[in-house]
Order: sequence, then C-alpha cells, then structure tokens
Amino acid sequence: MPEPSLLPYGHQWVRDEDIQAVRDVLRSDWLTQGPKVEEFEKGLASYCGVRSCVAVSSGTAALHAALHALDIRRGDEVIVPCVTFAATANAVIYQGARPVFCDVAEDALLIDLDDLERKIGPKTKAVIAVDYAGQPCDYAELRALCERHRLALVADACHSLGASYQGRRVGQLADLTIFSFHPVKAITTGEGGAVVTDNPEWAQKIRIFRHHGIEKNLPASSSKAPWFYEIRTLGHNYRITDFQCALGLKQLETLEERIARRRFIANYYQEALKAFEGIRPLALRTGRDHAYHLYVIKIDGPTRMSPENLRDELFAELRARGIGVQVHYIPLHLQPLYRQEFGTAPGMCPKAERAFTQILSLPIFPTMTQREWERVIDTLDQCWDKLKCRNKSGILSPQGGNTS
Ligand SMILES: *Cc1c(COP(=O)(O)O)cnc(C)c1O
Repeated sequence: MPEPSLLPYGHQWVRDEDIQAVRDVLRSDWLTQGPKVEEFEKGLASYCGVRSCVAVSSGTAALHAALHALDIRRGDEVIVPCVTFAATANAVIYQGARPVFCDVAEDALLIDLDDLERKIGPKTKAVIAVDYAGQPCDYAELRALCERHRLALVADACHSLGASYQGRRVGQLADLTIFSFHPVKAITTGEGGAVVTDNPEWAQKIRIFRHHGIEKNLPASSSKAPWFYEIRTLGHNYRITDFQCALGLKQLETLEERIARRRFIANYYQEALKAFEGIRPLALRTGRDHAYHLYVIKIDGPTRMSPENLRDELFAELRARGIGVQVHYIPLHLQPLYRQEFGTAPGMCPKAERAFTQILSLPIFPTMTQREWERVIDTLDQCWDKLKCRNKSGILSPQGGNTS
C-alpha cells in the first residue's frame, strides 16, 4: 500500500498579497531595519492593546530579551512549566540563571499553581507561564501569586496570540509577553518573534539588546558628534528584517480569521470526540477564548495496555495512514541536558509525566479543508477501534501494564 501524503499537525497560510508585500520590500532601499519593522510593531501592540512592542528574530530571542529586560542573571532562579518547548527553559540558561521546572495540571497541561508556590525560593526572580496549546493560564491567580512573592511574570504566548482571558487579550496579562512567528504559529514571518509590554523602559532595553547593545541619543551624547554611540551592555544580533515584517503585517490582517478557522475545526473535533470511549480533549477552563495552536487529545483507556504503549500504537497507526500527529512535549526535566546540568530527574513533576504518556496532537491549521478534518476523525475512529480490539484479545500486552 503506498503511503498517503502526510497531513501535517500545523502549516502556514501565505496568500498572494502577502508575497507581493514581501516582494515590494525586496525592491525597496531597506531590507532590514526599515519602516516595516516599526509598522509591524505598532500593529501588533495595537492588536494586543499594549504600549510597546519590539520585534526580534525569533520567539527564542524574544524570551531571551524579556529575561534580559528583567535583569535575570547568574544566581537567579526562574520557574518554568516542564511541559513546554525547550526554548522556554533555554532562555533562562542563556542569562546564566537556573530554570526550575514546575508541574502542570493533568487535564489542561497549564502550570500548576500549588507546585509553583512550593518551588518558589529565595533565589526565585520570575515565572514564565506558557499558554499551552493556545489556552491562557490562570492569570488572575498567577498575578496575585507573583505579586505576593514579588516575582516578575513573563507570558510565553507562542501558542496563544489571539486568545483572551476574562475579556482581556493575551499580551496584557503579564509584565512581558512573548510571541513566535514560526510557520506553524498563528501568524508567520518565516522565523521571527516579538516582546510586548506596557513598560517602555523594558522595551527600550530590548531594542538595545536586539542590536549588539549599541545606544545612540544618550543624554551624555548631546555634546558629542552626531555619529556618537556607546556600548554599555552586551547585546546580540536579534534583528528581524523589513521583508519579514512586511509579511507579518499582511498576516496580522487575517489574524482574526485564522483564529476563527482554528476554533471551527476545534469545535468539530470536540463534538466528534464525544463518541470516542477512552479519548478526550484537554480540559477547557472558564473565562477564556482559546487560540487553538494545538489540538491535543488524551488517551485514557479503557485498556489493559500501559497508557504510553497505547499512545505510541495509536501514533504509529495514524502516521501509517497519513495523519501527521505529534507529541507536544516530552517534559523538559526528563531531557539529558537538564538532568546533567540541574540534577532534574523522573518523579519531579508526576502529573506532567503521567499526562505526557497519554497525549497526542491532531492536525489543526487555518487552511485545513473539511475533507481533511473529517479524514482525521474517520482515521482516528478506525485506528482506535483496531487498537481496542487487539488490546481486548491481549495480543499486544497480555500482562497489561501500568506506568505509575
Ligand atoms: C515556538 C515556541 C517557542 C520558540 O519560538 P521560535 O520562534 O521557534 O524561537 C518558544 N516557546 C514555545 C512554547 C513555542 O511553542
């Protein structure tokens, strides 16, 4: 049987007019650091309802820059959920600080506030909240907790651009919020990212950080030559190009439609999954509008197989039938790097470790067709039936299994 082409879990949406906008910039005088960067920043700040936005070369650079703005340094600790992309923790390490991994709620995979409070120590300076799959975290409680312990709150909103919490857009919910414009995210610039904040001083620090630490127009330079500049802190080349921002501006025009399409597909999945015994969507919290960067299902039986084996079998069956499912993510504290460098180990975040064995991300992206989303559910139905039958007859795991 020939392998059907793989339906990916995420895909960009680039229109002809987006391409035209990029082409126009390529024919102009400015390929980088031109007018489109500022226009894109203004557009994004206005969409989010915040004062300042700084666009950078990636979401990872945005995380790094946000922690620089907060003066996170060697000796500090920053708490991050263990279920996230590696960049969330790596940005902490770039600043010489220590990432402390926090457990997540088993049903929604959002940061667990009780475990968070337990992990706060004298060196803790900040928390990075991750709006996993596109659902905003419990910001009211998070903000209260951070205020009580005098911690800065950074939102890693790489999944949740376009989402809101109690009627307030993501971008306004933390001290600094970061976005990524990687092709699978809500809008794309190829590679790219941004930091939004209501604090113009932090925004200014990030602009300097983005460009090697070079500062012009300092108060002290008014008596100096017009070319005068000073470097007082170490920066990077984290600039984004003008043609990327031209693309970003066009993409921003369609952000609402992108989110609406994702929500439509998510609703279809949500309804369809009601008929599946043993498969559920992630829990939805009240008072928030989800951006559905990911559509994650949890597999929880009925079965005599260990959950992980069942998930892996289902993954293989779906992949063999062209459904590009994924697993987001292996909990970071289980990765060799953090185990070696920071002494993390299995057992430190039990809820995340359990949930991880049961999760699978189904394809969801704005250009998906009805045929495609129906194919996902039909194929899931076939594979799940097959697995349940095989499982009942005890072919795969006659002893059963248990990961706990
Ligand atoms: C995509 C992503 C990032 C990193 O963004 P890049 O633009 O790829 O550097 C960081 N955190 C999360 C949760 C992400 O999904």
